[in-house]
Amino acid sequence: MKEVITVEIGQGGIQLGNVVWEQYCAEYGIDKTGKLDSKNAEHSFNTFFVEANNGQFVPRMIAVDLEPDVIDEIKTGSFGAIFHPAYLISGNENASNYARGYHTLGKQIFDRVNDRFHKVMDDCDNILGFVIFHSVGGGTGSGLGSLILERLSVNYRKKSVIGFEIYPSSQLSTCVIEPYNALLATHWIIDHTNVSVVLDNQAIYNICQSKLHIPKPDVSHLNYLIAKVISAMTWPIRFDREIYTDISEYEKYLAPFPRLHFMTTGMSPIVSKTDKATTLSDSEKIVAESFKPANWLVEYTKFNPEEDKYMAASLSFRGDFRMGEVNAITNWIKWNRKMCLVEWCPTGLRIGTIRIPAAILEHDDISAFTKNAIMIGNNTGISRMFAKRIVQKFDIMFSQQAFLHWYFNEEMEIGEFMEAREDLAFLEKDYMDVLSEQPSDEGPSHGESDVDGDISEFFKLISNVYFSWRKSILFIM
Ligand code: GDP
Repeated sequence: MKEVITVEIGQGGIQLGNVVWEQYCAEYGIDKTGKLDSKNAEHSFNTFFVEANNGQFVPRMIAVDLEPDVIDEIKTGSFGAIFHPAYLISGNENASNYARGYHTLGKQIFDRVNDRFHKVMDDCDNILGFVIFHSVGGGTGSGLGSLILERLSVNYRKKSVIGFEIYPSSQLSTCVIEPYNALLATHWIIDHTNVSVVLDNQAIYNICQSKLHIPKPDVSHLNYLIAKVISAMTWPIRFDREIYTDISEYEKYLAPFPRLHFMTTGMSPIVSKTDKATTLSDSEKIVAESFKPANWLVEYTKFNPEEDKYMAASLSFRGDFRMGEVNAITNWIKWNRKMCLVEWCPTGLRIGTIRIPAAILEHDDISAFTKNAIMIGNNTGISRMFAKRIVQKFDIMFSQQAFLHWYFNEEMEIGEFMEAREDLAFLEKDYMDVLSEQPSDEGPSHGESDVDGDISEFFKLISNVYFSWRKSILFIM
């Protein structure tokens, strides 16, 4: 037996997780009470579910939030009966910022979380790793999420951790300090996940508007789209396939350098129920669409396929694709430069096929399809999303020391901001180095090459903030 434990943290992580379980259940034929229609031996039910003595399938998961509302909704919601209540953990306070989630409230709840980790692991024989859902904009998802990631990597160092990280969008933003939370959490994600799938709410919001014609999408519309991608990434483990039989294979295949593990995803077809007649049926076009930025769950404001390159990518063909067709399309993708690979990376494009298409759920906005393609790519352009959407906003607020007192009141120090910001500057540089890298044995390692213009700007910013912070401390004293 082999098992994967899912960990859902904060409102976004738990709400997304709820839809993902609905997606898995629909694909396995498990109903809302955890009962299975008919067992198919080909499926690895026990990887993501525990089979209880009464035959009920219970998700192998822990959900934790610092406030009670979302957990209460899950318990009383339509899928509430499948979860084991002992693994739905909540506190009584809201953590609006990273510092409350990591330092103060997070540390208070952590013993309970740790205790549940031990219990969920008692039901396992051979844990492959952890799948984490959280939003990096919120206080719980960013702060407690970072604390849990750090502890997982200390306690279970050899196990793979795949993070599905929700990045904030201004349209759906719930508070002004999301860039601080997101940057501080990304600093931990760099070192404590093996693969991180970037789920950019802005890009998904845009897809809901432009392709699904939802004038004002809310987070639940986004979650139904995201669940299709998560389903595609986990099916090889859930359905016993040769490709990626272990979640650590994603890391081996997609992340040639440990820090550069932030994935872009694209899916196709995405067609609304009202546009059903235009749903693509041509296999080649379906796959080509998944490589187009308009179908990506990450927004690249100025994506440039010539400049931005893939270090590796994985393509899932789900549903009614014929084997000969899959090979022909794969070659067509490579030869027609639908994806531009770095010259030095040997891995390239990996293919997986499964006859079961992604299930369409009751509340899905997309029209049903008989086949779909999901692309998961390690593309250097991801650093532009971090730079434009997180780092620039962080710098503007940080240069004014705006809202920092909320963090300092929760046991945080300025050095933590500086360290995280510096790490993001080096991450950006590492991605840039990949583009200029020639084939060699050594990967980009931060700190070795000359500091370029952007980074020296960053050091100027940091020293200005640091000295004015020191001045204000001296003034208070
Ligand atoms: P936390 O509970 O303190 O971690 O706070 P949230 O998870 O609510 O984080 C706030 C951020 O997450 C905002 O950017 C929201 O737009 C986003 N968010 C909240 N809930 C969801 C959700 O269910 N799905 C998605 N995709 N984003 C969410």
